[in-house]
Amino acid sequence: RAKQEQKGDWLFLDADEQRQSVERQQLLADIRTGLADNQFRLVYQPKVSMRSGNVIGVEALIRWEHPIKGTLSPIDFLPALEHHPLIIDIGEWVIEQAFRQMTTWDSEGLTLDVGVNIAAMHLQQPGFTDSLAGILARYPHVVPQRLDLEILETAALGELDKANYIIRDCESLGVTFSLDDFGTGYSSLSYLKQLPVKTLKIDQGFVRGALSNADDIAILKGIVGLSKAFDRKLVAEGVDTREHGELLISLGCYDAQGYAIARPMKPEKIAAWKNQWRPYPEWSAGEYATP
Ligand code: C2E
Ligand code: MG
Ligand code: MG
Ligand code: MG
Repeated sequence: RAKQEQKGDWLFLDADEQRQSVERQQLLADIRTGLADNQFRLVYQPKVSMRSGNVIGVEALIRWEHPIKGTLSPIDFLPALEHHPLIIDIGEWVIEQAFRQMTTWDSEGLTLDVGVNIAAMHLQQPGFTDSLAGILARYPHVVPQRLDLEILETAALGELDKANYIIRDCESLGVTFSLDDFGTGYSSLSYLKQLPVKTLKIDQGFVRGALSNADDIAILKGIVGLSKAFDRKLVAEGVDTREHGELLISLGCYDAQGYAIARPMKPEKIAAWKNQWRPYPEWSAGEYATP
């Protein structure tokens, strides 16, 4: 930072920061408009059991059909919302939309559990459980057990005993929880110990690395061991290829999500995907040498 202490650089940074702040305000205004104008939609990515091929559920992932910029991914707009109350509006919209979608699928004879990503700030919002209960009450034909809330291990979760309390409160409604991107948080083991989540979702980074990196394999083995010791379910993310899947199966992780299985898709595509989906023969054979 020494260089930045020169006066000219501070001035430059100031202007830059000012521009960023203007851009951020514009983005926030656009998101508000987008919510009001129905510019957001959810795509869904299947989670499967790799050996049986059973579909465990789907994860809802938000997209923004921006009138000018086209389809935007969460990385394009969620970071700006991390500490902004609008993330709560988005989160409530996503949960409501997920229940609507489950209702539509149900009417087509397609029963699917749905995972929804929830920002730490939203979870900590006073009245989160009540608001969730309100949504659940509007969809009495969808059992709350079908909703899984995915939370990131982030410092933003704040005091773990508080997060623990909120999670238990929601679980008493029937809703379940997953720890997303497991292993990347600054204190993963504390989260595992203190938060009563049902499922650990292994971060894509470890899965991606494991085909070429012995350290990633060691970490995956450790996570499989932890999931057993703590009696948590395990889902691997980022299963890009059948080789990733084979490796995970050989390590004792059987449930997965990733491009080798399905990309996130529009809800009306799920039924056709499910009808033609078969696990790779190498997966269902179920016996592999441990690397
Ligand atoms: P995530 O919850 O860990 O979701 C998985 C991300 O990995 C998704 O990206 C998905 O499209 C991508 N992915 C899945 N399989 C593969 C694969 O095999 N290879 C590769 N390279 N990528 C794969 P997406 O949809 O861009 O979402 C990114 C992140 O944004 C999510 O990570 C989640 O943390 C956040 N997010 C998405 N939707 C929402 C939402 O509605 N609310 C909140 N608060 N966060 C959301
Ligand atoms: Mg997720
Ligand atoms: Mg559940
Ligand atoms: Mg993840």
